[in-house]
Amino acid sequence: MQSDIKFIADHYGLDTQLDKAIEENAELIVAIQKLKQARKSGTLAEIRKAEEAVVSELADVYITSTELKYLMEINHAVNTEIERKIERQLARIEEGE
Ligand SMILES: [Mg+2]
Repeated sequence: MQSDIKFIADHYGLDTQLDKAIEENAELIVAIQKLKQARKSGTLAEIRKAEEAVVSELADVYITSTELKYLMEINHAVNTEIERKIERQLARIEEGE
């Protein structure tokens, strides 16, 4: 699967996939907003539909994020930053934040 994502990323190139990443992240924001609204005042069917949309957009964001990490050759840097941020957040929780 990882090689398929690389194939797709190479096929379209960085400039196109940067635009795709913007589009997919925006779609995820909208899907999350709709889920919040559905959880507040929607029917169970509307909540389930909104959850399915979040699943779909999270998948799109995962794929485009993986493409950007590959095309920009920043996979290691991102992993290091993830570790640093998790550690920082754990410290904040420890401090009672
Ligand atoms: Mg999408």
